[in-house]
Amino acid sequence: MKHSIQQIINQSRLNKLSKRLNQVNSWHESCRALSDDALQAKTHEFRERLAQGESLMNLLPEAYAVAREASWRVLGMYPKEVQVLGAIVMAEGNMPEMQTGEGKTLTATMPLYLYGLTSKGAYLITTNDYLAARDCEEMTPLFKWLGLTISLGFVDEPDYEYKPGEKKAIYAHDIIYTTNGRLGFDYLIDHLADGQEGKFLPDLYFGIIDEVDSIILDAAQTPLVISGAPRVQSNLFGITKTFVETLEEDTHFELNAKEKAVWLTPEGIAAANAYFGVENIYDAVTFDLVRNINLALRARYLFESNLDYFIFNGEVVLIDRVTGRMLPGTKLQSGLHQAIEAKEGIDISKDMSAMASITFQNLFHQFTLFAGMSGTSKLGEKEFFDLYGKIVVQIPTDKPIERIDYSDRVFKDIASKNAAIIDRVCELYDKKRPVLLITRTAELAEYFSMQFFDRDIPNNLLIAQNVAKEAQMIAEAGQLGAVTVATSMAGRGTDIKLAEGVKELGGLAVIVSEHMENSRVDRQLRGRAGRQGDPGSSQIYISLEDYVVQRWGKSKLLDSTQLERISEQGLDESRLFQQRVKHIVTRAQRVSEEQGIAMREMANEYEKSLSAQREIIYEERDRVLNQWDIDKMALRQLATEVFHQAYRKQSLNDEENLRNYIYQQISFQYTGQLEEIDLNREQAVVAHLVSLFEQQLDAQQQVIGDSYMFMRFVQKAILKAIDSNWIQQVDHLQQLRGSINNRQNGQRNAIFEYHRVALASFESMRDVIKAHIIHNLCQSVATFDKQGDLVIHFPN
Ligand code: ADP
Ligand code: MG
Repeated sequence: MKHSIQQIINQSRLNKLSKRLNQVNSWHESCRALSDDALQAKTHEFRERLAQGESLMNLLPEAYAVAREASWRVLGMYPKEVQVLGAIVMAEGNMPEMQTGEGKTLTATMPLYLYGLTSKGAYLITTNDYLAARDCEEMTPLFKWLGLTISLGFVDEPDYEYKPGEKKAIYAHDIIYTTNGRLGFDYLIDHLADGQEGKFLPDLYFGIIDEVDSIILDAAQTPLVISGAPRVQSNLFGITKTFVETLEEDTHFELNAKEKAVWLTPEGIAAANAYFGVENIYDAVTFDLVRNINLALRARYLFESNLDYFIFNGEVVLIDRVTGRMLPGTKLQSGLHQAIEAKEGIDISKDMSAMASITFQNLFHQFTLFAGMSGTSKLGEKEFFDLYGKIVVQIPTDKPIERIDYSDRVFKDIASKNAAIIDRVCELYDKKRPVLLITRTAELAEYFSMQFFDRDIPNNLLIAQNVAKEAQMIAEAGQLGAVTVATSMAGRGTDIKLAEGVKELGGLAVIVSEHMENSRVDRQLRGRAGRQGDPGSSQIYISLEDYVVQRWGKSKLLDSTQLERISEQGLDESRLFQQRVKHIVTRAQRVSEEQGIAMREMANEYEKSLSAQREIIYEERDRVLNQWDIDKMALRQLATEVFHQAYRKQSLNDEENLRNYIYQQISFQYTGQLEEIDLNREQAVVAHLVSLFEQQLDAQQQVIGDSYMFMRFVQKAILKAIDSNWIQQVDHLQQLRGSINNRQNGQRNAIFEYHRVALASFESMRDVIKAHIIHNLCQSVATFDKQGDLVIHFPN
């Protein structure tokens, strides 16, 4: 059986780990015997030993024992053996699965301490600002006591404006607590700096990702994007929408809903050519047309109103597929949002160009080593392994789990299901047993909350407004008689402690009003009850009208003649009916999960070109930023290469062309004679241009004077050329993805085609960058402001 093989593998992994655990334990007594001073002095000793070449893995047992003892003395918590096991797994860059309430925050301090000893930066990355700030605050006394520096990776104020140097100071700590979003944006911003003084982020060394499955799997489909200027707006949204409405499935286009793909058939292409009166829509000049047709197709056939988005106040508001939460302010990229607006006949909003973008997968690849922890990582193990080569080790709970997971209650429609939920909550409330009722959408949570108030049941409503307030409210969910209604994400990361007398009543009762799209999320929700061996229960309710069934279930359940014979009232009681529904839900979840995996694979495929190119560009930028020797810049060589290219491509064997080229690229004031040069000799022309270039550069140096400032000038001129082109390239790749997506025969070829075009455009961009560097060096105007800082006016 598959199940038991997995258990055997896990057990053998645990056996191996227990040897390490014994080593950690063996240091317990000697650490306990140390005075505070002596224990604190260990940090210094470890650092010395590291400096002398001892490895971190060698230090691990003693370092963990020291961190453990310190945490006992400073925080009053002694990390349990299961926590040490989890900590060992993470030191190896893998992922322990540890249930909610087992103390992952404290577990993480051990690997953070170990890697923090190197002072290269050890990060704890979590999902939101509140959790990062909370955990940072709680663990700060421990790290400080141990002599490590620690900081929160951001200033926790809305729209805070960072002062120069402030971010650099924030990141210059041994340990940093932050969020994936904050770190991702900082990574992108750091690589837009045009001078060493603007850089603040060190190379990413070691990271631990809390709730790793939700960060890497649930949140990873949309890349982080820094938006620049609004893009020139296409006016094709309306007409392509109308065109697409004339098409028929299978004749003009094919649809693969599972892969979220739709593409034109040859008949469809012919129809488009005729409709728009062009020879071939795939010609380069009609790039924008193809892109818009594809957008219109996707908007029409892959996005459903009320399932993927709502129309709210005349705007398209996206819905988070996993949580059902509305995502106001979030927009689909590259014109897709606008295509949906066109489809719905509402005002078309501005589409921002992308300046820089990265997926979370790639962000974490930047770390030398990273680990993750979660209560539900096992279900994502295959993906973690495929993406990062990481294994998941299930760590046993410290105390046996007492929670009872009841089997689902099944109903035909939502109304009868909701009525049953309300009855059940009333029953529990009468006994004063605390209840946590979890819904998929905020609307439904509000509905239940109102219903309870109508029945004089006081209750707390948590619908993802303010995380800090939610955390406080959820912490109270274990009080006698507490009724808490929450959406699935609300208050996560905060554990629910039971008040006195609640254990006797059976602990917290979790009721989930419908299955989520993903069985991992179901498991997370059940895990809200029964922490640290507490009693508790969980139960999920389902009906045939539920989202997940509507969205993903395809079977025609009620067609069964057997079921038709059962009366309306008897249906809920029928075993056959219950089994059928459960089967449908399980299948629907599986379809949805598979689709999630497929989409992430696809996103990764597309990201490959971008990330390979980004790496080259970022490396090049770093090289320029760190180069202070003008000779090593090899500018003369670069100019020679650029002029050779120009000679061939811009016919510089013609006197007028050559003169114009010199005016535009090298010097506005050129008065030289070209008669003496044999224009048909490429070498001669290039040599002349190179000497002009060097004169011009000398003149720049004269104006600037100071040789340090001159180097800054050269750096900025080069970076400007790289950045302005790279920013365009990032945006181009985004657009390209939208246009090439589904070109002809579905996804596989589309990706191949995408990589081909992406590479070609990258190659030509590199030539353009070189030419721009020479142009910037020659024709920028350098001045100084009142503070004496260099100000450069670049040629357009
Ligand atoms: P998780 O993230 O695994 O759900 P938390 O890190 O939020 O769990 O910890 C849950 C609770 O357990 C916290 O109140 C924490 O202070 C407490 N805790 C963790 N480890 C220990 C320990 N070794 N001894 C005592 N309390 C602990
Ligand atoms: Mg936690």
